Amino acid sequence: MEQAKSKKEIEKEINQLRGVIRKHNYQYYVLDEPIISDYEYDKLLKRLITLEQKYPEFISPDSPTQRVGSQPLEEFKTARHLVPMLSLSNAFSDKELLDFDQRIKKNYSQQFFDYVVELKIDGLAIALVYEDGILQRGATRGDGFVGEDITQNLRTINSIPLKLREYNHMNRIEVYGEVYMNRESFKKLNEERNEKGENIFANPRNAAAGSVRQLDPSITAKRQLDTFVYQAKFPQEHDLETHMEVLAFLKKAGFKVNQNIKQCDNIEEAIDYCKSWKNKKNILNYEIDGMVIKVNQLLLREKLGSTSKSPRWAIAYKFPAEQMTTVIDDIIVGVGRTGALTPVAKLKPVVISGSRVQRATLHNEDEIRRKDIRIGDTVLIQKAGEVIPEVIKVIKEKRSGKEKIFNMPKKCPVCGSEVIKLAEEVVSRCNNISCPAQVKERIKHFVSRQAMDIDGLGSALIEQLVDKKLIKDFADLYYLKKEDLVKLERMAEKSSENIIKAIENSKKRPLSNLIFALGIRYVGNYASKLLAQKIDNILDLQDKNSEDLVNISEIGPKIAESIVLFFKKEENLQIIKKLKDAGVNLSSQEKIAEKQTLREVQFVLTGTLEHYTREEAKDAIERLGGRVTGNVTKKTDYLVLGKEPGQKYQKAKEMDINIIEEKEFKEMLEK
Ligand code: NAD
Repeated sequence: MEQAKSKKEIEKEINQLRGVIRKHNYQYYVLDEPIISDYEYDKLLKRLITLEQKYPEFISPDSPTQRVGSQPLEEFKTARHLVPMLSLSNAFSDKELLDFDQRIKKNYSQQFFDYVVELKIDGLAIALVYEDGILQRGATRGDGFVGEDITQNLRTINSIPLKLREYNHMNRIEVYGEVYMNRESFKKLNEERNEKGENIFANPRNAAAGSVRQLDPSITAKRQLDTFVYQAKFPQEHDLETHMEVLAFLKKAGFKVNQNIKQCDNIEEAIDYCKSWKNKKNILNYEIDGMVIKVNQLLLREKLGSTSKSPRWAIAYKFPAEQMTTVIDDIIVGVGRTGALTPVAKLKPVVISGSRVQRATLHNEDEIRRKDIRIGDTVLIQKAGEVIPEVIKVIKEKRSGKEKIFNMPKKCPVCGSEVIKLAEEVVSRCNNISCPAQVKERIKHFVSRQAMDIDGLGSALIEQLVDKKLIKDFADLYYLKKEDLVKLERMAEKSSENIIKAIENSKKRPLSNLIFALGIRYVGNYASKLLAQKIDNILDLQDKNSEDLVNISEIGPKIAESIVLFFKKEENLQIIKKLKDAGVNLSSQEKIAEKQTLREVQFVLTGTLEHYTREEAKDAIERLGGRVTGNVTKKTDYLVLGKEPGQKYQKAKEMDINIIEEKEFKEMLEK
């Protein structure tokens, strides 16, 4: 495409890009209020870099490609850095990291070196100057040469030592690190800002930057900020030769140094370490946006030097972006199994972290009001891990005036019944228990894995069954015949047969799964298990009042009341009767026996038993207070021997463990 462009047009595009990037730099670095996602920003910058590389005649020293960050805010005193504070070059693929390694080896192939890989903390870079062990100045990176003097603010952060514990009489030292805000504090801060109608921060990095660049240090003090440091200037003066030694020195001096680091012999090992963090980064209570690979040897670093923007001895491996901007085409309303109406944003599709996103939850009407989300708005959305995509904030700068305010419908969009909103609730609800949407959702819940686990009965089929009036509730599933299913779209003999079989099999599900499957409000998986351990039959719940239920350990009043309410409703009792008549198991095999005859006795099972499946044998032992473990150890009391036993049998014999056969085991259970 470029070929077709004249030099003049290229120059125009370059200038335009520079203007746009400068504007975004200002929004991001100065105002802490980005209006495009990092991914989109990086794309613009990459385009500019490509053009400048291809047409070097247009490179100019004031191009954003040649500079770090942005000018400092005028309100602060300026702080000139002793050595320029640089950014990092980025890599998004293995290839770019291998190229980085090759670039170093090209000129220094004779020299031994290794790498240190660190987490890339998603925060704000700071530089701390200590003289005779006392903190003199703390500054932001600013444009790399001059930052903002935020000493008073940084003094409020507990992990920044005001006096070094050990500094070996080094009279002056400059330490670089990152100020960050952990996930919990970030969430809390945004919730508070939301409540007050203030703009929320797009990510913890902006929140940390916004909190530390306050004119009033008492605001910073309230923000729960933390730090990790990763570099010290003038370390050689103190016989430090490697980055690992610098980190150890910083730790000893009293700084907080991140412990998730790895010294790697080669780039392949470094890449593996980077990747190992890609999937587990969410275990941290702070955010990282990638990893940093650094040459360990300080002398080699010096030889490699840096460009105007970043050192040649380090590179950031960036994780795929989790935020993007897109447009809300419409807001639709879904109806859940309890009748809750959930507004959902229909988005112009975007790819985030490798998956196509076209819907985002808007939670409820209050949330839409608080964030002032309108149809037609450009929004920043986030998809992190398995979490449902959500709208982080509206980019109000992109409004044209044509955006439409959304109002929750007064009537259920599915059945047309009245929508109610109870004073104590944030959600609006469809008040019609037979609303087809609610019925369908209840059935979907009933067949789900943790409930009755009916395989093959997917959403599309449930929709058809309800729409064609073949079933009115989930109990009707047990009265379906193969002939009913074969008639439906995309169903054949075999698939219909399999579903009927799966429905039949589900009749044997344990009581706890059935209780969960009923979809009683607030009764989740765990509460269902607790209940099943205390009753003989589901019908026992019918006779219990709130007090009885609250007496079950861990069952609170909210759950108790909800259960009582459920069993008061005639239609629910009818459904349970239909389940019973169809032969669905209503009794508890999980009930904990009064007499704990096997209390603390440890069993190991091996081979096939005639009268029990593994699960049944395990449940039976646990009901009597015993335990089942996977391996034979010194602590094993009995090995239960089934047909065709495994290695465990041999081991038990060698270790002289009591070995019992099924008959003896059965007697033990029945004692
Ligand atoms: P960067 O954040 O990608 O990387 C450099 C920074 O990483 C360093 O300055 C340091 O602060 C930090 N860092 C964290 N852990 C580190 C460690 N262990 N060792 C060394 N450094 C560590 O670079 P940048 O120049 O600060 O900012 C560029 C980023 O900002 C890009 O991701 C870009 O998308 C984003 N940005 C976005 C917008 C926008 O409008 N959305 C505008 C400007 C910049």
